[in-house]
Amino acid sequence: MSTNHPVQPVYPQYLTGGGEMGQLTRDYNWSANLLGSPENWSQSLLTTISIILNSRFPMFLWWGPELIQFYNDAYRPSLGNNGKHPGALGQKGAECWPEIWPVIKPLIDQVMAGGDSTWSEDQLIPIYRNNKLEDVYWTFSYSRVNGESGKPAGVLVICNETTEKIYALQTLQKAKLEIEQAQAESEAQRDTLESALQAAELGTFDMDLEKGTMEWNDRCRNLFGISHREPVDYEKDFIGGLHPDDRERILNVIGKSYNKSESNGDYDVEYRTIGAEDQNLRWIRAKGKVYFDVHDRAQRFVGAVLDITEQKMDEFRKNDFIGMVSHELKTPLTSINAYIQMLRAKMKKTEDEMMVSFLDKMNAQIKKMTGMVNGFLNISRLESGKIHLDKQSCFLDELVKNVVAESEFTASGHHIELICNEPIPIYADQEKISAVISNLLSNSVKYSPKGKTIEVKCMLMDATAHFSIKDEGMGIKPQNIEKLFTRFYRIETKHTQNISGFGIGLYLCAEIIQHHEGKIWVESESAKGSTFYFSLPAAQEVSLTSTAQLA
Ligand code: ADP
Repeated sequence: MSTNHPVQPVYPQYLTGGGEMGQLTRDYNWSANLLGSPENWSQSLLTTISIILNSRFPMFLWWGPELIQFYNDAYRPSLGNNGKHPGALGQKGAECWPEIWPVIKPLIDQVMAGGDSTWSEDQLIPIYRNNKLEDVYWTFSYSRVNGESGKPAGVLVICNETTEKIYALQTLQKAKLEIEQAQAESEAQRDTLESALQAAELGTFDMDLEKGTMEWNDRCRNLFGISHREPVDYEKDFIGGLHPDDRERILNVIGKSYNKSESNGDYDVEYRTIGAEDQNLRWIRAKGKVYFDVHDRAQRFVGAVLDITEQKMDEFRKNDFIGMVSHELKTPLTSINAYIQMLRAKMKKTEDEMMVSFLDKMNAQIKKMTGMVNGFLNISRLESGKIHLDKQSCFLDELVKNVVAESEFTASGHHIELICNEPIPIYADQEKISAVISNLLSNSVKYSPKGKTIEVKCMLMDATAHFSIKDEGMGIKPQNIEKLFTRFYRIETKHTQNISGFGIGLYLCAEIIQHHEGKIWVESESAKGSTFYFSLPAAQEVSLTSTAQLA
């Protein structure tokens, strides 16, 4: 009886098992293969196949002159998907591996010729699998298997694919390289930063508030006049290095910086240092930031310090000059003013109206000029710390009434409404408080159109003297309010560009009021108008005197 189906050979008992490859090997139609039916295979071939199929280590066998192939389940993944498997089983070596044959054939020949077994570690042998030529790394050994005659009949390949290990190593090396590059870059950046700090002569400080440690660079140490290389000591080096007259103020500012709600951690100050070692006086500008943890506890205080001694000296010289010039201008101004008053009194009798109006205009201009000169004089005194308050018992309502009366010529285009109906005793420098009222009034005039009302109010409330002046002018935008009381600050807009001024009026007002332990502030709405306020402590004993006088 003839049949197209091959008759399955009966394999020896020990050729059972071996997983998928065991099954494929047994099912294979070997009688159509060069090796012929397994009944005729040599014992050494059967034994070798049995070892291969039952090994968990990847193994592969080339057998006979045509190098017919066998392999096990452990080897199978190395052939990939959609590639050589399962065609590689029973295939001739040269047909299966054309892409690497020139590399491996000499090794096979060497082993078949009775040479030593080979050993190759992590060798790149690209193979065709998964429909493409893939870079695959192997560690493998070729060893000879003898046939029945004792002569070499096959080559056993014990191998391990190490592609993943190699890729992992390569990734590791790449990561190492990247880290090294990043380190080199950050070192270069640090160098650049260090050079920039040196070029700008900037000192830096970094304080760990938890550990209580301070890091100062050389320049910072230098600005505090210390040359030792020991860790910086807060008490000895920092507090000890501050000028005694600035110590309390700076410690207060630092205290505020540590309080997030009070300062948001901002720190920006000018102070003097007096080197503990060199006893040199230096002016320093320090700017920094305090960083907080999630509970708003101050953690770190970092910043930079700059030597501003030269600028400060220039400023002092400029101040002295302004002070001197304003002082010298005051005397001729006072005489001109006196002569104008005399001329005016005389002219009034002649009834020459034109002359009287000219003199009134001159009077107004002289008043303006006197105001400016006094402003400069006060600023120079303030800056040099020489401001002197000549405090006396007086009444705020009277000062206000006097200033409003005197403004008759300068504020003639506005309607001034005065609400000052009670005696308000204060203990103050009358001239300086009058200068504040006059400044605020002249601003209301300057920054509101003619014909509008200016409401001037004063009153006594809770043992405090209150003053306010409300205009219907251009108003102030919220973002400009914060800096309004700082020196030389002017709001530059198309509305203000033709209004003359130096930006010192409000600064002076604020300083004078603060020197009286009072407060000054503003409420304003752009294009609607502004109200400036100040308050001063009221004086009790004067109040009694005034009541007695009134009675
Ligand atoms: P100056 O008036 O000489 O410029 P000040 O210090 O008196 O300087 O005022 C600072 C700035 O505040 C002014 O330039 C002005 O822009 C603004 N300002 C002051 N008073 C008023 C006001 N009543 N209405 C609107 N803006 C004002």
